[in-house]
Amino acid sequence: MSAAKKEKPEFPQPRTKLIDGVPHIFINYVSSCSGCHETNEGYEIYQNGKPIYAYDEKNRIFLGSGCHECGYTGKRRHRFWMPENPEY
Ligand SMILES: [Zn+2]
Repeated sequence: MSAAKKEKPEFPQPRTKLIDGVPHIFINYVSSCSGCHETNEGYEIYQNGKPIYAYDEKNRIFLGSGCHECGYTGKRRHRFWMPENPEY
C-alpha cells in the first residue's frame, strides 16, 4: 500500500514578474464597454428612475448595449502588467 501524499491546497497567487528590474503585477478586470456604454459625465444614465443599461452583478458594472468592439457582450476584459509599487 502506498501512502497517498497529501498535497497542500494551492491558493491563487497574484502573478508577478520583473519588467526592467521592476516588479509588476498582472491586472485582470472587467469593465463596461466604452464603445456601447455611455455615461453622463461619468454617471449612469437613468430613465424613469431606472438605469438604461443592464447591471452585471458578478462584475459590479453596467453593461453596454453591445457593439462589435466587445463582441456584443457590453463589457470588456482588461489584462495588463502594472508596477507593483506605483512609486517607481
Ligand atoms: Zn461594446
